[in-house]
Amino acid sequence: MKIWLDGELRDAEGARVSVLDHGLTVGDGVFETLRTVDGRAFALTRHLDRLTASARGLGLPEPDLDEVRRACAAVLEANPVPLGRLRITYTGGLSPLGSDRGEAAPTLVVAVGEAPRRPDTTAVVTVPWTRNERGALAGLKSTSYGENVVALARARAEGASEALFGNTVGQLCEGTGSNVFVALDGVLHTPPLSSGCLAGITRALAVEWTGAKETDLPLDVLERADEVFLTSTLRDVQAVTRVDGRQLGDTPGPLTAEAMRVFAERAAADFDPR
Ligand code: PLP
Repeated sequence: MKIWLDGELRDAEGARVSVLDHGLTVGDGVFETLRTVDGRAFALTRHLDRLTASARGLGLPEPDLDEVRRACAAVLEANPVPLGRLRITYTGGLSPLGSDRGEAAPTLVVAVGEAPRRPDTTAVVTVPWTRNERGALAGLKSTSYGENVVALARARAEGASEALFGNTVGQLCEGTGSNVFVALDGVLHTPPLSSGCLAGITRALAVEWTGAKETDLPLDVLERADEVFLTSTLRDVQAVTRVDGRQLGDTPGPLTAEAMRVFAERAAADFDPR
């Protein structure tokens, strides 16, 4: 497998990043995951915009998007996979002391692998830990993913495949790697970005394509929602069958099924939607 590291394609096995890279020592980095079909990356421009916004939020130098585009193209050409998961990682880079980023040059890594297959339906649990909607990292796709790893492990231990967070004021926020939508009395809703959730690219497209409303929702909305679904790059729209042990009715319900249909149709027609 070939990956892109600091300006060139290299064999993944021999590629090395310093043990003092900020991405490793303090999780000072940002990333994007894109899905690819036959060597083309879906919604690449949106992902690059978000990469830039996340880098800005962390105070990293702005990524050189021409280089990132070149890197993506080179990696996709060198590693043909029909359905891929492309990962862009951009970190604070090497610091001689490992603590102060100083003038360090950022590290850019781009790699692609086969996309894991996600089932159309899944069970979720809520977790007691909260997203901090006013925290410095709110809404940034940073490599500091420890909180998500812990929550996902809890979900798996409880027989679910995703964990949902509330925020510090008791509102529904998002999953560890997904945004969440609920249907209430025939209307789709999703938490607004002010809830602290990531500005998911699938979420934005689902809002645009289904007319879902961005609404502050209490976490306990999950106890009465008629339907629940998740969105993310590797899921598209994924119907939720069970929340904290509460079985939802026929899954996917009508609004979820329609969201799945519209998403598949529109995404196929417009591969790089703005
Ligand atoms: N929320 C979090 C915390 C995520 O990590 C992700 C994606 O990995 C999402 C939401 C969904 O975002 P997207 O649709 O851009 O993949």
